[in-house]
Formats: sequence, C-alpha cells, structure tokens
Amino acid sequence: MKKLLKNLMENFRGKTVEHDPSQSLCPECRTALKELSGLGALRCGKCRGIWVDLDNLSDFIWAPEEHLAGILSDTVIESRTFNPSAPRPCVKCSKPMENYLYDERDSLWVDACGHGHGLWFDPGEVALARQINKTQSSTEI
Ligand SMILES: [Zn+2]
Ligand SMILES: [Zn+2]
Repeated sequence: MKKLLKNLMENFRGKTVEHDPSQSLCPECRTALKELSGLGALRCGKCRGIWVDLDNLSDFIWAPEEHLAGILSDTVIESRTFNPSAPRPCVKCSKPMENYLYDERDSLWVDACGHGHGLWFDPGEVALARQINKTQSSTEI
C-alpha cells in the first residue's frame, strides 16, 4: 500500500520534537549534518541529502529560490527518487523511516519517520517537490 506524505502530516500537525541538531547524523552516510541557517533544515555535506522537520516542510519548500541555491541544482539519483528505498534511520529517533509518496499524482518517493519527526530528501528531490507543488497552487501541502 502506498503511503501518502500528506496523511502523515495531518496526523502530526503541530507536534514538534525537541532535538539537538548537533547530534544529527546523515541517514545515508552517517556524516554529521549541518544546519542550513534560516531554513529550518539540515544538510549532509557529503551525500547532499536534506533533513526537514515535518512542521517546517511548507516553509522550507517555499523558501525564496535564492535561499535554496545549490540545493535546487543538485542532480537527482533516479533509483532513489522514483522508487521506494531501503529503510534508513530517522535523524531524530533512529528508527527506520518509511517510504512515502510525496504526492499521489506524482512518483516522487521520500523517506519519512512514521512518528512524525521529519523527512529526508535525497539530492535533487527538493527541486522536484517545488515543481509538484507549483502545479497545484490551490492545494496546501
Ligand atoms: Zn550523507
Ligand atoms: Zn523519528
């Protein structure tokens, strides 16, 4: 069964989890994640993946384009982006994340923690997510 990201967001709307960003490791390569200042997101300098708290997702996706320079230009790794990937650990609770379909009308898969902690974008997926949302301006993410 396909799980939709919007259902997860509805379940956990407004529930935040305290977590020390300095303790955050990349779910892909275990490198320490760095804060993207002003964006409420963390980035892996090595594999270029991005962690976003679930509550921050909307703000992050719609950040002005110039704030996302260097993120939107990342190259998509198709095997990870358009297919469900092997479980990787949540940055906050280390439990395995699950694959969620970003939008039911598209084939972008993201990893998200089933406990509502946040989601992981592989390189290039942020740009795809913006495109998806742009075509649905009437729908809130
Ligand atoms: Zn990494
Ligand atoms: Zn978690």
